Amino acid sequence: SEETKVKWDKAPCRFCGTGCSVLVGSQNGKVVATQGDPESPVNKGLNCIKGYFLSKIMYGKDRLTTPLLRMKDGKFDKNGEFAPVSWDQAFDIMAEKWKKALADKGPTSVGMFGSGQWTVWEGYAAAKLHKAGFLTNNIDPNARHCMASAVGGFMRTFGIDEPMGCYDDLEAADSFVLWGSNMAEMHPILWSRLTDRRLSAPHVKVHVLSTFEHRSFELADNGMVFTPQTDLAILNYIAHYIIENDKVNWDFVNKHTHFKRGETDIGYGLRPEHPLQKAAANPDSGKMTDMSFDEYREFLKDYNVEAVAKLSGVPAEKLEALAKDYADPNVKVTSYWTMGFNQHTRGVWANNSVYNIHLLTGKISEPGNSPFSLTGQPSACGTAREVGTFSHRLPADMVVANPKHRKIAEDIWKLPEGTIPPKPGYHAVLQNRMLKDGKLNAYWVMCNNNMQAAPNINEEGLPGYRNPENFIVVSDPYPTVTAQAADLILPTAMWVEKEGAYGNAERRTQFWHQQVSAPGEARSDLWQLVEFSKRFKVEEVWPAELLAKKPEYKGKTLYDILFRNGVVDQFPVEQVNAELNDEAKDFGFYVQKGLFEEYAEFGRDHGHDLAPFDTYHEVRGLRWPVVNGEETRWRFREGSDPYVKAGEEVNFYGKPDGKALIIATPYEPAAESPDEEYDLWLSTGRVLEHWHSGSMTRRVPELYRAFPDAVLFIHPEDAKQRGFKRGDEVMIQSRRGEVKSRIETRGRNRPPKGLVYMPWFDAKQLTNKLTLDATDPLSKETDFKKCAVKLAKV
Ligand code: SF4
Repeated sequence: SEETKVKWDKAPCRFCGTGCSVLVGSQNGKVVATQGDPESPVNKGLNCIKGYFLSKIMYGKDRLTTPLLRMKDGKFDKNGEFAPVSWDQAFDIMAEKWKKALADKGPTSVGMFGSGQWTVWEGYAAAKLHKAGFLTNNIDPNARHCMASAVGGFMRTFGIDEPMGCYDDLEAADSFVLWGSNMAEMHPILWSRLTDRRLSAPHVKVHVLSTFEHRSFELADNGMVFTPQTDLAILNYIAHYIIENDKVNWDFVNKHTHFKRGETDIGYGLRPEHPLQKAAANPDSGKMTDMSFDEYREFLKDYNVEAVAKLSGVPAEKLEALAKDYADPNVKVTSYWTMGFNQHTRGVWANNSVYNIHLLTGKISEPGNSPFSLTGQPSACGTAREVGTFSHRLPADMVVANPKHRKIAEDIWKLPEGTIPPKPGYHAVLQNRMLKDGKLNAYWVMCNNNMQAAPNINEEGLPGYRNPENFIVVSDPYPTVTAQAADLILPTAMWVEKEGAYGNAERRTQFWHQQVSAPGEARSDLWQLVEFSKRFKVEEVWPAELLAKKPEYKGKTLYDILFRNGVVDQFPVEQVNAELNDEAKDFGFYVQKGLFEEYAEFGRDHGHDLAPFDTYHEVRGLRWPVVNGEETRWRFREGSDPYVKAGEEVNFYGKPDGKALIIATPYEPAAESPDEEYDLWLSTGRVLEHWHSGSMTRRVPELYRAFPDAVLFIHPEDAKQRGFKRGDEVMIQSRRGEVKSRIETRGRNRPPKGLVYMPWFDAKQLTNKLTLDATDPLSKETDFKKCAVKLAKV
């Protein structure tokens, strides 16, 4: 019958930034199956193991279905037990705590931590509620732990965020270089395409660089294990090789680049005694000055093959083979990187340095020649970056510190001048410190599991959540470690239980319809944000001087001025083009469409053009800028990018003069490295079967069984030397905390002597008790890839 028939509809995968499309089968109000979408240009009908089990992520036994508040004797008590409450009771206590914090300490005492798992309109609504409603920039996404250095790299070099290339490079490159990216496990579908290219075109080469051997080494023609942090020196060696072998593409360099250096002040983490330590660029201030080509060449002189081979531990001939591919004008090179570059105390420099190489050779913005930063979250690009959820950003790459940018946002949002605060808010790591110090008091976490994902969660995390001055709200479908540390848990509708949009790593925006209802009282993050805004009269939040500039807002709520402003609510509910859309039904207008069209206004004609809302429901995504219905594959290139005029060939239009920057970025030692006491490097990361903190994938029985518990990967000799064998339980200790795990000397990861690797998906083994919370001074992104640990008997 009609009721029992399986209905199929498209949706992007809920997990990684690859952005595969799946077909979702639902029956009797439940998702019963998923399959790779054969019409998807990204995955062409394939999925990785996580994608195949998507249908099960919503049906874990402990799915949250009602708000839960810590209570004692029928009242909220910070030390009480979680008890079910209604949404009204939940919003009542939240509004009380938010109003108290705002009245006592002002807008900087409230804040939010979100993520690139938000849909586009959820992130946009969250950013708008905070920046325009609560007058605070204290909102940050977990992209701060993930992509912030990539953003910093793009903005410094090109003045505009996100990759210029696209996945079509996978079929066009002659040489692939993986820098700190285990694509085989973290972006498996892209890896299948890369493998296909490598195996079907015999001349193609694959270079893989990492601090330990992993599955991507299995295909490598040139696998290189380097000492942690020395990637900065290797990158400079390649630039040095290109220059000294006369392989600079002078036509390109002269037309399209400038040479720059950072300011020369010595800043965080510099240890000038190191021979490869140059103070030529220390752009902690972000300011740069001009540099001549000769000065750049001189700066690179010390990065010769002997010195860099010695420092990095990579044999000279392997370094030369890599440099040769970059330098050869007949070899098209695509470089990929992920967290190895970004989670780095000099992540922005690492990003800048790889662009230096592609710019020196002109290997950029054309098929197969691409420096390409891959994202971890499904909408790290589409939501976390593009809609302005960072504490320093506004939509479409604008920043709160720029008065012109604030004015543009204030005009679109119909706000009086001076509404948006100019000072960036607390970034992710600072939020935890401010919670601990009692400066951030009303705090809402959505779409992430920061008590498992944040660095050094001993000192900086939990004490802040349990600080009696603070009230912590966590919205999640499951009782994660973070939810359990909160005062109020809100049950969240997930994935196809709501209408959504994600933007993947190649600028592809993809939409889906709500296909089933959420269980119990669970409601989407969008509904929660918009509904909460009804609790605040403008005069309760805004100072009188600001309200005096818009007296007509008096007596209205934040909901009225932010979400019923004649822009967001202009699409009547009749326009909803699907059977289910709980939010639109509740609010009485097509809220997703309204928010999307308002947001799209920021980017249209400014290099971030999005297609009309309805178009995306018809197609398998489009890569922005979308102009006159055409998507863009290679940005900055004439004939592909509509912003580049005829005759320009290449135009890096993010910069006022259209020229990208080649920036001198030196080597700098790690913030913490092994010594006599803490004698091993620790690197952390993920595994194929689990996505990030495992809160969804560990609830899928097949994925759980495939990799049930985290283990400590270690070189067999290191284990033996310390008296351990495979399977032994050990205590891993750093200066910050300790965690128990089991020794693994075989399998997919093969660390060199002196380094151990531990994934962080396992809530029973909180790897991030060990990690260091040192951040890149430019991007404020944490280095999860290197710190010092020792092993002890349990
Ligand atoms: Fe594709 Fe990533 Fe989903 Fe796997 S997890 S199916 S690679 S989007």
